[in-house]
Amino acid sequence: MPIKPDANSSFTPDSRYLELLVELSQASEPELLNESLLLGLARLMKLSSVSLGLLNEDSQNCSYEQLLQLNPNEDDEAGNCNWNHIPQTFPLTGEQFNGLKNGQVQENSKGSGHRLLVPAGHHDIDRAILCLVSPQALNIEEVGLATVLRIYQNLYRNLNQGQRDKLTGLLNRQTFDSKLNRMLERQQQLAAAYSESESDRRRLSGQNLPWLAIIDIDHFKRVNDRFGHVFGDEVILTIGQHIRSCFRKSDLLFRFGGEEFVVVLEPIPAENVVVALERLRALVARQQLQNVGQVTVSIGYAAFTPNAFPPKIIDCADQALYYAKEHGRNQVASYEDLIARGELVESHQDVGDIDLF
Ligand code: GH3
Ligand code: MG
Ligand code: MG
Repeated sequence: MPIKPDANSSFTPDSRYLELLVELSQASEPELLNESLLLGLARLMKLSSVSLGLLNEDSQNCSYEQLLQLNPNEDDEAGNCNWNHIPQTFPLTGEQFNGLKNGQVQENSKGSGHRLLVPAGHHDIDRAILCLVSPQALNIEEVGLATVLRIYQNLYRNLNQGQRDKLTGLLNRQTFDSKLNRMLERQQQLAAAYSESESDRRRLSGQNLPWLAIIDIDHFKRVNDRFGHVFGDEVILTIGQHIRSCFRKSDLLFRFGGEEFVVVLEPIPAENVVVALERLRALVARQQLQNVGQVTVSIGYAAFTPNAFPPKIIDCADQALYYAKEHGRNQVASYEDLIARGELVESHQDVGDIDLF
């Protein structure tokens, strides 16, 4: 069934509904807006669980990728809620997948609970999906959900645009601290969730760390000098698109300055990070850009060791980038490898002394 405009239904807004709209309008970041939406809907519709995620359109398998889940805790008098930020993937039938793609609400009831999957607009280029779970039958028209979601979508778009660089659509530098902190908090939650399992504990404490890479276009001044800034901007845009295509949705991709990009990769083994960064470097180097011809990038990266301070990691990745520039450009350099090979000396400089870019 398609989600119908509330104007056609017998819905009349009440004070709880208006309160939900007020709370949505107070959110200052997309993540806070998402939390307000789930909290407000859980109260309004008396849900036993509500989650928000994306329709996974780039995989062969039709699936729903849950990013945020709220399990309201009725027993808790203080009104505390259980938030789950750990991404989880749920399979969908072809019919459900196509229905959601076409903006149609899908029933996905299991056992005695009622479960609805509801298209909730777009998150950047992905389709957002709400999953509502209740012991009672759910009537979304009675609570004016279509209007809530239209307002949510408008607010989301505005907040999201404010966090993105106009040229490339990547995250802007001003969002770096808050996005990074959220990612690191999520990693801690994940580690705590796995802490009961000995094998998972070993896996988490092993090589799987988040990584930070700085990507800098080689000899970019020459591009501007020879072809002008308009072509220079076109090169930045193309490299931004390559960066988007090479990493996962959960990785953080920033345009950090003029022709510099920062990528924070969710924990993966060391051997995989070099493969991902090499793939980007090679993709850029083999493409002939219109008029400009070949452009290359140099990449330096470092690991987020436990308790490491982000400015220190940026400094380490920057040292590796500087090494790559000094040793021929068009290459990927690892801070940890350079230290191990004695090419760089570990600095014990106070982070307060570091001049970031
Ligand atoms: P290197 O290989 O050492 O990185 O050389 P480079 O020429 O890229 O050196 P540098 O990083 O110092 O120069 C960056 C240049 O990028 C300086 C500036 O002219 C140009 N630039 C910075 N922001 C923009 C932008 O938004 N658009 C365009 N077209 N050019 C930019
Ligand atoms: Mg630069
Ligand atoms: Mg450069």
